[in-house]
Amino acid sequence: MELTQQQLVQWRREFHRFPETGWAEFWTTSRIADYLEQMGFEILLGNQIINRDFVRGRQQAVVEKGLANAVAYGAKQKWLEKMDGYTGCVAVLDSGKPGKTLALRFDIDCVNVMETKAPEHIPNKEDFASLNDGFMHACGHDGHITIGLGTALWLSQNKDKLSGKVKIVFQPAEEGVRGAAAIAASGVIDDADYFSASHIGFCADSGTVISNPKNFLSTTKIDIRYQGKPAHAGAAPHLGRNALLAAAHAVTQLHGISRHGEGMTRINVGVLKAGEGRNVIPSKAEIQLEVRGENKAVNQYMVDQVMRIANGIAVSFDVEYETEIMGEAVDMINDTELVGLVEEIVLAHPKVHSANANYAFNASEDATVLGRRVQEQGGKAIYFVLGADRTAGHHEAEFDFDEDQLMNGVNIYTALVQRLLG
Ligand SMILES: [Zn+2]
Repeated sequence: MELTQQQLVQWRREFHRFPETGWAEFWTTSRIADYLEQMGFEILLGNQIINRDFVRGRQQAVVEKGLANAVAYGAKQKWLEKMDGYTGCVAVLDSGKPGKTLALRFDIDCVNVMETKAPEHIPNKEDFASLNDGFMHACGHDGHITIGLGTALWLSQNKDKLSGKVKIVFQPAEEGVRGAAAIAASGVIDDADYFSASHIGFCADSGTVISNPKNFLSTTKIDIRYQGKPAHAGAAPHLGRNALLAAAHAVTQLHGISRHGEGMTRINVGVLKAGEGRNVIPSKAEIQLEVRGENKAVNQYMVDQVMRIANGIAVSFDVEYETEIMGEAVDMINDTELVGLVEEIVLAHPKVHSANANYAFNASEDATVLGRRVQEQGGKAIYFVLGADRTAGHHEAEFDFDEDQLMNGVNIYTALVQRLLG
């Protein structure tokens, strides 16, 4: 393997062709592991990188279907055994010399979007469109995998110039902010002195880098499930316990949570499913909601209120209930040392012409969970946006990005490695 634009494009297109949804990235993980093995990395999988108590929003039916598809597409048994049902991997490179540890994170999942059939769409024109119906790399994570592999390849060829250690995290299930918590809680990057992650595209065009995006919202995705008791709605309604009514009351109370005085908060109940039939007292209801907050503390306030209401309603309506956290991300403030370093690197790069520090992200990203974990252990973290021209918005069926920016991404990461571990 040689670190060339041609190699990067080949990787990007290979991963684009077989997109896999969060927690079902079995073929993707297997293929990444194949390449990392050829490069000579130590590869950590399954329990070595996942704390199952913190796995968010993993649906068994989706996992099983994904696994069957992945096996049919050629996922290797030896990697699947080590994954043990949990996707993603961490590549470790130890220089053998004492020094700092740097953790890099690249997300690997796709979006549940059907790719356009339009003939002018480049993946159709050049024959690398999704073969996995209903799924598409419509957020550019195929590019992230590629930048991660390119960085890994450079590392494997330049190991003798470095001190310390590099850990490259190929993270599952970023969509819905579900995958990072389990990796953070595994402790696999607790020894990191530095952490870096990035996203391709968004509002940044080719040749620009946003070195210090702000306003990452803390968020928690929660499901509340009520279990009542069915009964005849005419003859014996008093024998039933009404889960639908409980959930309906919960929804209005949830939207009535008092705002927090010390920071912006949001709540949205996006889904309410309940009931079995017109003449049956409904025995089941499920609420899918999310809260957001300007910071971790006000977001936690929202979570606490949600949990209190979920419980209070269950008492009022005499129904059973459970709650499940389906995803989470936190706010994160980039460390100035790393912002400065990325700006220096970017401005010295011939193909990048601007480093814009001021951009409000106003969304959530679970790389923040990993970055915050490193910061809480005394390390430093950065998240930046790598500009790339796009043909459509993220998560749209026509999404595609400028592949020429992949090498810029690799160059920024390898320069970062050299500056921190050189
Ligand atoms: Zn994304």
